[in-house]
Amino acid sequence: MKITRIFAHRVELPLVEGSYHWSGGKSVSVFDSTVVGIETDSGLVGYGEVCPLGPFYLPAYAEGVRTGLRELAPHLLGYDPCELHKVNHRMDAALKGHAYVKSGIDMACWDILGKQTNLPVCVLMGGRYGDSVRLYRAISQQSPDEMSQKVTEYSQQGYTRFQLKVGGDPDTDIERIRAARSVLKATDRLVADANTGWTQHEAMRVVRAVQDLDVYIEQPCLSYEECLAVRRNTTHPFVLDENIDCLDMLLRAKADLAMDLVNLKISKLGGLTKAKQARDLCVSMGIAMTLEDSWGGDITTAAIAHFAHSTPEAFRFTSTDFNSYVSVSNASGAPERVQGFMQASNEAGLGIQPRTDVLGPRVVDVS
Ligand SMILES: [Mg+2]
Repeated sequence: MKITRIFAHRVELPLVEGSYHWSGGKSVSVFDSTVVGIETDSGLVGYGEVCPLGPFYLPAYAEGVRTGLRELAPHLLGYDPCELHKVNHRMDAALKGHAYVKSGIDMACWDILGKQTNLPVCVLMGGRYGDSVRLYRAISQQSPDEMSQKVTEYSQQGYTRFQLKVGGDPDTDIERIRAARSVLKATDRLVADANTGWTQHEAMRVVRAVQDLDVYIEQPCLSYEECLAVRRNTTHPFVLDENIDCLDMLLRAKADLAMDLVNLKISKLGGLTKAKQARDLCVSMGIAMTLEDSWGGDITTAAIAHFAHSTPEAFRFTSTDFNSYVSVSNASGAPERVQGFMQASNEAGLGIQPRTDVLGPRVVDVS
């Protein structure tokens, strides 16, 4: 089988809640997502999706996905999409870095491999573990009262894991964490994700001020070294996210005992192939994970579900149903949340069908 055409659509995904706020006053109200398609000489077509969390979360931005695809696509025509490592090797040789650009192509190749073999992607990624995947709900940064109210609402919808967006004023963040924890059951898990927003001394104050609470601390500071210093001075379970963007960092963090959990995002690592490599390494090293992406709609959510469902349950801390945060559906067949859980599709490939009426015209088309 050969790749004959690579194309992409731009899709706007407005947020159901109107906007999403996190550390440092950053916010997004409409996500700019790119749906990537790959056509082959067999007639099979595969799809992927890349949606950065705005241009100021990771070194990634929406127009960069499209520009990168125009650069990369000509190098991949004629390659067999089922030869995933070969495709990734070619992408890395043709374009240095820019992991997020490669993610949609890699995802679409997995979709084709699944359709060609008549197997769901989760089976191809190692096997389906358990009946369903437990989800967390991200709580947009607002006042402590508004955030604890949201935690209560989403708790009533069945969620048992919550990720509070902190990383703002440390005194208010302490109140946010206390308010959210006070409305949760003892068995619920609360993560305070500062998204790099605290300086080291602020982070030290916050972790000490909430020492008596059952709360996980995620990515308190910008640099790995600052996070490590905080980690070494707290007993809270500790999560790294933004700093862990490649295998080198994962191995370094493991050697330093810098985290109890790691957040693996598909596009941060460069696609499902590389995310799987990091995931498998984490399982071997005994590190549990949040398995997700930076953001996205139905196609991203389907890919997350396959990625998470093929991870042994003991190592699966949480995952995300991004399609429930946005008001536009870009594909049918995607997982739908049931009481705080979702399942990967049993259909071949990712198990989704893009909604052509929502996608609009092609903004990238290379053949
Ligand atoms: Mg995070």
